[in-house]
Amino acid sequence: MARVFNFNPGPATLPLEVLEEVRSELLDYHGSGMSIMEASHRGKEYAAVHEEACANIRRLLGLSDDYAVLFMTGGASAQFALVPMNLLGEGGSADYVNSGAWASKAIKEARLQAKINVVADTSGEKPARMPAPDEIKISDGAVYLHITSNETIAGTQWKEFPEVDVPIVADMSSDMLSRPIDVERFGLIYAGAQKNLGPAGVTVVIIRRDLAARVSEKVPIIMRYSTHVEKDSLYNTPPCFNIYVVMLVTRWVLALGGLEAMAERNRAKAAKIYGVLDESDYYRGTADAGSRSDMNVTFRLPDEEQEARFVAEAATQGLKGLKGHRSVGGIRASIYNAFPPEGVDALVEFMRVFERRNG
Ligand SMILES: *Cc1c(COP(=O)(O)O)cnc(C)c1O
Repeated sequence: MARVFNFNPGPATLPLEVLEEVRSELLDYHGSGMSIMEASHRGKEYAAVHEEACANIRRLLGLSDDYAVLFMTGGASAQFALVPMNLLGEGGSADYVNSGAWASKAIKEARLQAKINVVADTSGEKPARMPAPDEIKISDGAVYLHITSNETIAGTQWKEFPEVDVPIVADMSSDMLSRPIDVERFGLIYAGAQKNLGPAGVTVVIIRRDLAARVSEKVPIIMRYSTHVEKDSLYNTPPCFNIYVVMLVTRWVLALGGLEAMAERNRAKAAKIYGVLDESDYYRGTADAGSRSDMNVTFRLPDEEQEARFVAEAATQGLKGLKGHRSVGGIRASIYNAFPPEGVDALVEFMRVFERRNG
């Protein structure tokens, strides 16, 4: 077996220990004589999985009873629509920060439903950056402030969240559980699983219960957060297998020491690659130093021909998935929680050699 270092942006690499555990219990889950994929979502085996996945997330984030943890479907993209649908009644408005490609999509969807104020827009800036927390001024009547904690394509990340007196709604798809956060500042957090949490197909939502309760009766039952809160994400059949993997991944994060340890590990990994960019006249980082993401490190080479060669040569050495997003080009190293430190060392070594030969 030859596993590569997988820099894919999402779906992304999973912890090897988790994959091995999935394999070992795939055919006969805990003596039940069937796979967890084949088990009833109302049966005792799955019930324990569902409960532990939820409990692990609660423990990692230190959630109080004011918050519910939900497992939903439709990806973060469905949340772009569900957030305004649930939180903004007739005539309600909200503030959004446009920090790049993902924030833009959230805004586009929200605008179909409500009055949306863009209170800061860094989406066109080069180098890419997140707004400073004090650039944000909340509009009169805004119900929430929506931010994207990590822009996966631009390679930027909020380091300090804005201090505002409305609840923050955050798309944390690409940095969920990668560092400790002060949850009390947030009314709602959502993340598609396929970057930091597990396989694609389940979306984790953390919502303050009082916000879920505000929903209008006109919202379809299946689209209401309140439905999923009341039914503990079992109103309809949840993506059981995906939630099972999320359970194993969150167990793995706990075993490594929780979010402080994760943040330390992630910072150290990212710092090694940024270190090469800073030393070099050959590589050029595309994110502003104050907004550099610990999850997605983005950079350019002198021209596209060299970038294409860099990606192709890296792949032959077992470093795969380094091509930047098609909308921006360049190189992107996605190094989420599960990405091993040895993979970063291998990339750094490759970058140095490539520069010596081409720079
Ligand atoms: C990947 C990503 C999304 C899209 O997630 P889907 O699950 O494909 O809908 C949204 N926001 C951010 C920040 C992402 O990284």
